[in-house]
Amino acid sequence: MSSALLGVYRPLGEPIVGGQGSRLLMGDGREVLDFVSGIAVNALGYGDAGVAAAIEAVVASGVLHTSNLYRTRPAELLAEELVRLSFADRVFFCNSGAESNEAAFKFARRWARTRGGPCKHEIVALRGSFHGRLFGSLAATDRPAYREPFEPLAPGFHFVAPGDLGGLMDLVSQERTAALIAEPVQGEGGVRPLQPAELQLLREVADQAGAALIFDEVQCGLGRTSHLFAYQEAGVVPDILTLAKPLAGGLPMGAVLLKEEIAATLRPGDHGTTFGGGPLVSAVARVVLERISDPGFLAEVRRKGARVQEVLAPLVGQYGIREIRGRGLLWGIELEGAAASVVTRAFEAGLLITTAGERVLRLLPPLTITETDLEAGLEILREVLSWS
Ligand SMILES: *Cc1c(COP(=O)(O)O)cnc(C)c1O
Repeated sequence: MSSALLGVYRPLGEPIVGGQGSRLLMGDGREVLDFVSGIAVNALGYGDAGVAAAIEAVVASGVLHTSNLYRTRPAELLAEELVRLSFADRVFFCNSGAESNEAAFKFARRWARTRGGPCKHEIVALRGSFHGRLFGSLAATDRPAYREPFEPLAPGFHFVAPGDLGGLMDLVSQERTAALIAEPVQGEGGVRPLQPAELQLLREVADQAGAALIFDEVQCGLGRTSHLFAYQEAGVVPDILTLAKPLAGGLPMGAVLLKEEIAATLRPGDHGTTFGGGPLVSAVARVVLERISDPGFLAEVRRKGARVQEVLAPLVGQYGIREIRGRGLLWGIELEGAAASVVTRAFEAGLLITTAGERVLRLLPPLTITETDLEAGLEILREVLSWS
């Protein structure tokens, strides 16, 4: 890695110089299969013609950015589509997952204070959560190693285990709680799908306390689980939903979807961002959303996900594999030992995979992956696992 870059990452191998579909070309001429998708971002893979055409059209217009002092049509049309396809009435655009959660916390606090007074500001998050690396989103993230060097974080955040009714009863109250936040499938925390009953419990507790329920679908939303939104599978509807990773086809974009009751408490000037919802990212996101929301596309993701499960399930109990967990094209393989060494071996064998914590391998292929590439990647994975 260039010594000019801050050493907060440990990138693998040579620079990447090209890509097509689910394959990437490395600087040393090696081709690798990609089961990471830039961490759940490249849902449509590499070299997508629709994404390229959208980018070219915006470039041809000459206007890449205007700020939110002026109107642009791509953001308005994208927001209307997101509203049409979800529970939400309003959308706020920003530039990343962490930013979308920070905004969600601000919106929830604004609304909660309006109805419950100045003490109603606390946010309850779950054990195993990951919501981002900024001071608010990190305060909601249950990872000591990410938190401790940077404390004090934003105050007013508490943690409870998923499904812990007693813990929820102790922590959540009408007077103090503004919001509960959960990932329907915990991603960074080890690919742990929450049970529908656990999500339903959060909904009921939030309702009883007059608190907002926030679902963070930055990783598990937008088709990754084979449903457009993960909450749709469980049938538990949040008040606020955050999105980011795959939204703009590899360009940085986040979104907060919210119900009118909460939206109605926000006024011009309450929140903002210079770049959010610009015409370039919004135009690309419209292409991504149109493709991913197609029921036929989602059915294909479901079929491919079932194939991943079919290949992985028989391996449990062998090769130091403890458990497999997942939905759609988001899978975790929990190992007895460290996952990082398997990632390195897979890379050397021509397959990109990543981890989710110390002992969990994480698979997130592009949602558009072909059957041939899926089989080829699973074959490499099986071989690499058999060496351990
Ligand atoms: C990646 C992730 C985030 C943070 O997104 P950034 O764009 O890296 O800020 C937040 N929540 C979840 C569930 C994520 O997976």
